[in-house]
Amino acid sequence: MSDIDSSSADGARAGSGADVDPRAELRSLAAALRLHAEQLDRVGIYAAGGAAALAPPPDADAGADAGAGASAVAGADAAVAEVAGEDDSPPVERVSLAVVREDLGECTRCKLSATRTNIVFGVGSETAPLMFVGEGPGAEEDRRGEPFVGAAGQLLDRMIGAMGWTRDGVYIANIVKCRPPGNRDPEPDEVDECLPFLHRQIGAVAPRIIVALGKPAAHALLQTRAPIGALRGRFHSFRGIRPIPVMPTFHPAFLLRSPDRKRHAWSDLKQVIDELERLGVRSPNPARV
Ligand code: URA
Repeated sequence: MSDIDSSSADGARAGSGADVDPRAELRSLAAALRLHAEQLDRVGIYAAGGAAALAPPPDADAGADAGAGASAVAGADAAVAEVAGEDDSPPVERVSLAVVREDLGECTRCKLSATRTNIVFGVGSETAPLMFVGEGPGAEEDRRGEPFVGAAGQLLDRMIGAMGWTRDGVYIANIVKCRPPGNRDPEPDEVDECLPFLHRQIGAVAPRIIVALGKPAAHALLQTRAPIGALRGRFHSFRGIRPIPVMPTFHPAFLLRSPDRKRHAWSDLKQVIDELERLGVRSPNPARV
């Protein structure tokens, strides 16, 4: 029996007795909807429609793992998102960036606070239609308190420029706001503490599209473990106050080490430009990708 079959059967059971439990019925309907969205995702359908509905399959060279990708639910369908938000993530209240920053305070919620120099909150426009999310500050970012100001940041600036935008016109943040020592990946407990603040930043900016830079960012935003090579190149959905399309792509630091992958990243960014245009958002300068 498939997952859908079993959840439908549960739903039928919930609705067939004398004492119908409406919450159980709603839960099973939510589960069936979610599974349906996951199945759409597995076949590469982005349910918001438009150009993105023709999303290409995952990168063949990345050892794509369709099963692992299933939890990155594509489909900006409000009903699915609302139901999904009910059991995994409560809807995030929309407040300004200043309020989020104030609530973060001189954070000591995780062990990264012990070794940081500065909290690296985020930079850019509070009304940006385009947001970039990286992994966590490096040495230079930690020193200056600003995201993406080192070598990877210079490449990110060129990527943003090639898309027809400027650093001031987009919003840039990270999964964790304090530098992981030695530039290691952020650990799960660190991500868990910091992610709610990123969710609230996303709520404040309400970008039309998010670009997830690298695996940790894509994993944290989409709650999946799929390889970045399998995720990149097509839109997924971030489930916040309202669903926001997410384009995972390679991290600029990886592109500095593997310049042959730049053409893949450019093709991902080109899709972002096209989708923004489809949404009626024009870049301030002509795109060069
Ligand atoms: N890499 C990131 O992921 N974020 C930064 O801010 C800098 C480098």
